Amino acid sequence: QIDDAVDEDVALQPRPPVVTIMGHVDHGKTSLLDALRGTDVVKGEAGGITQHIGAYQVTLKDKSKITFLDTPGHEAFTAMRARGADVTDIVVLVVAADDGLMPQTIEAINHTKAAGKPMIVAINKIDKHEANAQRVRERLLEHEVIVEQMGGDVQDVEVSALKKTGLDELIEKIQLQAELMELKANPDRAAEGSVLEAKLDKGRGPVATVLVTRGTLKVGDVFVVGAESGKVRALVDDKGRQLKQAEPSMPVEVLGISGTPSAGDQLQVVENEARAREVAEYRQGVLLQKRTTAAPA
Ligand code: GDP
Repeated sequence: QIDDAVDEDVALQPRPPVVTIMGHVDHGKTSLLDALRGTDVVKGEAGGITQHIGAYQVTLKDKSKITFLDTPGHEAFTAMRARGADVTDIVVLVVAADDGLMPQTIEAINHTKAAGKPMIVAINKIDKHEANAQRVRERLLEHEVIVEQMGGDVQDVEVSALKKTGLDELIEKIQLQAELMELKANPDRAAEGSVLEAKLDKGRGPVATVLVTRGTLKVGDVFVVGAESGKVRALVDDKGRQLKQAEPSMPVEVLGISGTPSAGDQLQVVENEARAREVAEYRQGVLLQKRTTAAPA
């Protein structure tokens, strides 16, 4: 049984921030994610193969960590939110300095505001001749995003994902924002997490990328995820390393699931396999019922 009691303050430990990058198509979301990934001091150490598992975590020089969801775009963000799996702490809004505010930029601003998430503006492609960062700041003002230089409290930073400039500053701003938020979780409890993506792998069976939200997920843990159940056979990180456990804010591939869950499903560790099956069967029944009643006449 999941302990439903509110985690006591004393049990809460700081956890890394979870960051989503949003912005208009071609403004450099993917390039920025790749560039930020390159700041990881742990990279290459284990000889594992870098994998795109829906999220990655970088470890910085000071040993602090940041988790980036690497499915950029507002679709993933909104879809997760709609399913009650609101895992993002901070949104980085990418705006290309040559192109300025575009329809999807404005959509991203609206989504971020609706979700009540703090935003950091990364003015990208600053290396280009046509770049005009000041124009971006002015246009943002029209959408009530007031950056520091314009007298507001939204942090902004000029970057070039291509030339890899401004990345340290962007990271510092993310860390500063995270500090203000005092992000915490209790690592010493039965784990819970959100499924970011899931697939049926030919060799490995059902594989779900889970972002741990509370507790510590360990190999051997018995769990329910959506209408599926299982026992953690292996945990694999974004560097292809096999882990024994995953702490809050860490994204990991979970192996050992009875079937393939859906993005947005919640994973909960339960006390035994009988309980896990019972909950999964109940949920399968509910799902079936929903489908039957939702079917058109
Ligand atoms: P996304 O659609 O937002 O993910 O954008 P991409 O990361 O795919 O980038 C779109 C294009 O812009 C690609 O051709 C990138 O090489 C280019 N690009 C991205 N960042 C920069 C940058 O900082 N400077 C310049 N000059 N080009 C960039």
